[in-house]
Amino acid sequence: MKNALFSALEERFQDTIKSYRGITGGDINQALHITFEGNGSIFVKYNGSAPADLFEKEAIGLKMLKRHALDLRIPDVLDYGVLDGGLSFLALEFIETSGMTKNHFEKLGQGVAHLHKTLFSHFGSDHDNYIGLLPQKNAYRSTFSDFFWEMRILPQLQLAVKNHHFTLNELGSIEHASKHWTDLFPTEEPVLIHGDLWAGNIFTDSNGNAGILDPAVYYSHREMELAFTHLFGGFDASFYHAYSVILPLSPGFEQRKRLYQLYPVLVHVNLFGGAYVNQARTIINEFS
Ligand code: ADP
Repeated sequence: MKNALFSALEERFQDTIKSYRGITGGDINQALHITFEGNGSIFVKYNGSAPADLFEKEAIGLKMLKRHALDLRIPDVLDYGVLDGGLSFLALEFIETSGMTKNHFEKLGQGVAHLHKTLFSHFGSDHDNYIGLLPQKNAYRSTFSDFFWEMRILPQLQLAVKNHHFTLNELGSIEHASKHWTDLFPTEEPVLIHGDLWAGNIFTDSNGNAGILDPAVYYSHREMELAFTHLFGGFDASFYHAYSVILPLSPGFEQRKRLYQLYPVLVHVNLFGGAYVNQARTIINEFS
């Protein structure tokens, strides 16, 4: 499989591969740092069984971020494709990373706040994409509460019912409860978000710039992004401070943070099951 990938890359980059090494740290795909005889080097992710457009959607997301997150480091997309036999790949500019600097989270907070100034008329996006390996629907909606229910919570709950983690009856009562969620959300405009912002998708480059990768972009309430960052213990306090200096939070975020987190928790239910099912139930009970 690797041979076919290497041949394809040599053809596309018109260079001979001199050496390569595996890169760990991803949770879905395999990754390599490849060096060519001509001394250029690239980062390549590949997967033999991923949805055919997974990397295309990631490439679109990276390009959108590159256009709008001007003070964050985002890898350049070099190429992507699907080879005969189904192996898909994404080739990116290789970024030399370094340990997180002291002010990493401050820079990240400023960069994300600037990204969140990218306004749009609707919640959603002009393309569907993926969150991990799960499809993420992004059809436009004009209110966040419609978008949150129809494009985020309902599809994941339907999948969770199919996966036998929830019953249809439960889905019905959650839908009933969701009618009251509308009043909880602030009136804020849709802004571009990374969509999967957690510790595994941030880095510092060798010049000390904060960077983000592996996006699942769409136009959303920015609070969705901030709630996401809090899911696994949260970022350093300097991130939230730097963010709020540029974009103060709307009152009441702490009260609704857990509701936003229902989405990534349901994604985890459908990817991993186990304890996430109870975590999702706890949130649902809090907002029923
Ligand atoms: P996955 O899609 O499997 O989650 P990631 O995008 O998280 O994979 O990447 C896997 C690893 O490769 C991570 O440790 C990440 O820091 C590193 N990485 C991702 N993109 C680049 C890049 N352009 N240059 C160098 N390293 C990268």
